[in-house]
Amino acid sequence: MKAHDGMYIDGAWRPAAGPDVIEVVNPADEQVIATVPAGTVEDVDAAVRAARAALPAWAATPPAGRAARLTALRDALVARQDEIARTVTAELGAPPKLAQTVHVGMPVVVAGSYAELAATYAFEERTGNSTVLHEPVGVVGAITPWNYPLHQVVAKVAPALAAGCTVVLKPAEDTPLTARLFAEAVHEAGIPAGVFNLVTGLGPVAGQALAEHPDVDLVSFTGSTAVGRRIGATASGMVKRVALELGGKSANVILPSADLARAVNVGVANVMSNSGQTCSAWTRMLVHRNRYDEAVELAAAAAAKYGERIGPLVNAGQRERVRGYIEKGVAEGARLVVGGSEAPREKGYFVSLTVLADVTPEMTVAQEEIFGPVLSVLRYDDEEDALRIANGTVYGLAGAVWAGDEAEAVAFARRMDTGQVDINGGGFNPLAPFGGYKQSGVGRELGVHGLTEYLQTKSLQF
Ligand code: NAP
Ligand code: MG
Repeated sequence: MKAHDGMYIDGAWRPAAGPDVIEVVNPADEQVIATVPAGTVEDVDAAVRAARAALPAWAATPPAGRAARLTALRDALVARQDEIARTVTAELGAPPKLAQTVHVGMPVVVAGSYAELAATYAFEERTGNSTVLHEPVGVVGAITPWNYPLHQVVAKVAPALAAGCTVVLKPAEDTPLTARLFAEAVHEAGIPAGVFNLVTGLGPVAGQALAEHPDVDLVSFTGSTAVGRRIGATASGMVKRVALELGGKSANVILPSADLARAVNVGVANVMSNSGQTCSAWTRMLVHRNRYDEAVELAAAAAAKYGERIGPLVNAGQRERVRGYIEKGVAEGARLVVGGSEAPREKGYFVSLTVLADVTPEMTVAQEEIFGPVLSVLRYDDEEDALRIANGTVYGLAGAVWAGDEAEAVAFARRMDTGQVDINGGGFNPLAPFGGYKQSGVGRELGVHGLTEYLQTKSLQF
């Protein structure tokens, strides 16, 4: 067990103001692997002051200079990729291969994309007799969840730095070790003192202090809708900018003409990957009634095959929550095809990979975000019915459409109330805007849309 005792503030690791610590637990074996300081209002205040002091010089650094530091940051992450992957496995429970390819691979690509955007984005433009300047919003308070510990951090910090903002990060209490490695990489990249600051701590203490700090100009939050709603209210009350990446209940719509086996296999892998702890996962599979039984059989087989590769959930609370949803699904009339709420192992926060069939749109498991390896398979009568079901939740983060013909799938996707749709298995694009319709959030991350979240405009007429 390693006891870490510093916060990264103003370019150095400094002792925390208070004595409290957070125990970091390996969810695969329930052992405490480290402790980190639990930051207080004083730590947050020190970090915000450092970020404010560093802002003028960083904002005035030419974009090419900021781009060079972001390139160095990407390289520093690459140099530490094995250590980061091991850490993600230790504190989140992600299987080693997933940790390498997704948990480290994706943020490296995103960091690189912002190095390039910082160098190429038009921070000034002419319109009529005006010059429009795209200037940094200022000091950013970033609050991140544990499900993709490095990606969630990079998706906020990289565009913020590219824009010329300075940042204070409060990472999830369950995964602070990856955030510490990120801070090390920032330091190694030669990013000036105070431009990026890290305060580990609890949401209701350090997170809330950051969101409420009068000298924070923009709060960027990813996590639950319940906390997001509060942060949005606080920010609006103080007339701060706010970005919210919240939950999802995305639909995987398999139209009758689709390659059913492929659509089901990719759909099951999408839900089960990262133990189902992905906000954009396609947790509702929608199948035409004529092909429904076949799809359920295929899903059961795919889930059974995937079972060997699944890691635990992040903590005991999440495991109980997910088991509760499985029980509720069965109680409301869903049919358990594989899995169930019993613990598959004695140690660790594991949940069995679960497929629920005969799920109807009004059931809890078809409406609420479960955040575990649980797939609900729903039946539709015709395309209008499928659309009504797909759009029939409070969320709208992602989705998928499968059809024999791409144009047919695209026509359906145009009518979906959601921020991102994969057509016939179209792959991840780090430049595509990511974010929610409806209660899935406000604002976008990634690519140029993610950059402009951190910019405000000034127009000069002459
Ligand atoms: P959460 O409580 O919303 O946590 C997200 C972040 O906000 C964490 O850093 C958390 O700190 C912090 N936080 C909590 N309360 C706060 C407050 N009052 N003020 C400021 N910050 C606060 O989410 P969670 O507990 O990690 O997960 C719960 C559910 O959220 C999941 O089951 C899932 O439905 C959803 N979720 C969504 C995403 C997504 O990407 N959209 C990601 C993860 C989770 P602590 O770590 O100390 O709690
Ligand atoms: Mg929490």
